[in-house]
Amino acid sequence: MKELAMLAIDAAKARGAAYADVRLVETRVENLGTKNGKVGSYEASEDMGFGVRVIASGAWGFASSDDMSRESVEKTARAAVETALASSKVKEEELILAPESAHVAKWSTLCETDPFKVPLSQKLEHLFKVDEALRKVKGLTIAECSMGFVREKQLFASTEGSLIEQELVHSGAGMTATAVGGGDVQRRSFPSSEGHSASGGYEVIGRVKLLENAGRIAEEAVALLSADVCPSGKKDVILDGSQLCLQIHESIGHPSELDRVLGTEANYAGTSYLSLDKLGKLRLGSKYVTIVADSTLPGGLATVGFDDEGVPAQKWELVKDGLFVGYLTSRENARACGEQRSRGCMRADGWNRIPLVRMTNIGLAPGTWKLEDLIADTADGLLMETNKSWSIDQMRYNFQFSTEIAWEIKNGKKGRMLKNPNYQGISTEFWNSCDAVCDETHWWPWGIINCGKGQPGQIARMSHGSAPARFRGVNVGVAR
Ligand SMILES: [Zn+2]
Repeated sequence: MKELAMLAIDAAKARGAAYADVRLVETRVENLGTKNGKVGSYEASEDMGFGVRVIASGAWGFASSDDMSRESVEKTARAAVETALASSKVKEEELILAPESAHVAKWSTLCETDPFKVPLSQKLEHLFKVDEALRKVKGLTIAECSMGFVREKQLFASTEGSLIEQELVHSGAGMTATAVGGGDVQRRSFPSSEGHSASGGYEVIGRVKLLENAGRIAEEAVALLSADVCPSGKKDVILDGSQLCLQIHESIGHPSELDRVLGTEANYAGTSYLSLDKLGKLRLGSKYVTIVADSTLPGGLATVGFDDEGVPAQKWELVKDGLFVGYLTSRENARACGEQRSRGCMRADGWNRIPLVRMTNIGLAPGTWKLEDLIADTADGLLMETNKSWSIDQMRYNFQFSTEIAWEIKNGKKGRMLKNPNYQGISTEFWNSCDAVCDETHWWPWGIINCGKGQPGQIARMSHGSAPARFRGVNVGVAR
């Protein structure tokens, strides 16, 4: 493998590349699901190939192949250089990469039990137990459980002398209970609408605690059918960690991707309100809001040793005590926000895509509250749990989210269950209305496994650590 990587680098150099990197990627995936006592789905796949990225005449070129022969490697490297030379004819400015040392390293996810060595029968047995616990609840219509595992082996080499081997392993599980009746359909998911995934091996599955929560989740789905609808108006809202995960992702994470800010990427609600003039000046949130980007977070889905440009994993602040202070950057664009080195956010979806600036693990720093004290301190509010749907404008400024369930809070007491809750706001106003965040005992690195970006589309994974937090005077209503 190393020999093929060097062959690609040498072929690109010989053809006139000023810079070249090659990524060889081998991916193995297993996904399984059960539905009402039967196997609902099963997918297992393996995939291998390589991509060569070059700079020639000051422009990018890229080519990839799954043919690992010497001829194919040389041909692909030459094709990448030819693309760069063609692109250079229409370039607007010279490409200059922020400096990075050469790294020769090996890095692997901490993995106690290889999930691909656990027999399928053992995995299904666990899901069927959860399925049975869900369907024990009278009135439940559909019980769905799932598990998924990914292993990615990567080899990165560059003309600057880096040679990095990495092995990433992700594991996850989840369940959904659906109740149908009286012309209504209600759903409860656990731990979030995507389940929960983390970096690590089969040991992650036990930590998700599906079986321990199955009865409660199914009962809530059935009870929602006869619950009152969410009232409309201004309320103090406490969001649970899983809903906050998506709120962070959409209203802070994506807007702080520097390529969106600079206009080099604009797909999927694609630009940003965090323009360069806001850096160090915008009060994005209240003093209780500190948002930390951390590619070293234990268990994080974006936790790596190095990004796909060979830049080491880092930890830094995007928002400090409410002030907007940092971006997610690459070697190409770091200088545009006044930094001398990339933050290491470039990741590609497999071997046949170029790396893009992707969110790493981005979390809301824990505060000091216990959830029960926060509820007791709230006179007229709602506790909202588990994302159901979302929408956000092109600048990622105006948003609305609905959750699967809400609970009324009156004079410090958690009261009746409410269905179809929705809240809306403007990113900066919303984060400035935050006046309390729960402490580290409530904090959990919620995983996102389907973040889409780019054209052709790429999927990335990341975690958003968060604990429940309170927002004052939020517009709430009924989801349509
Ligand atoms: Zn996303």
